[in-house]
Amino acid sequence: MKTIEEFMQSYFAEWTELNYIQEANSEAFLERFVSITYLHKTREERNKDTLYRQMHPAVILSVENKGETTEAIVSQPLGCEHELRLYHLRLTKYGWKIERKGWQCYFCKGSGRRDEDRCSSCDGVGWRYYGASDRK
Ligand SMILES: [Zn+2]
Repeated sequence: MKTIEEFMQSYFAEWTELNYIQEANSEAFLERFVSITYLHKTREERNKDTLYRQMHPAVILSVENKGETTEAIVSQPLGCEHELRLYHLRLTKYGWKIERKGWQCYFCKGSGRRDEDRCSSCDGVGWRYYGASDRK
């Protein structure tokens, strides 16, 4: 059984590989639909992002058991910056599985507060959930 750290490292390694495959697969599409200038700029941006990801891989900042689930806060690359993400993981008979992912709230920067009030964007929890991770 992998530790949660080993599981997350495998997840990021395979996620990075999946991104490379998606980028390679989109080349023919871009060549058909965008100008040569746009294509070159796209490749330039991708190369910068790839270099950044290689030099600054995802880092697990903390892991905390919350009863049925475990939460891991991760600093991970997005473009040429790092963002904080909150992963909710559950240990199943198949090993660790990600149940949902949260993004640090852009508006309160994870504090849950805006001025004197509770942040209305994240309901005061400091994290936002989208798509499959949204449980509202
Ligand atoms: Zn917020």
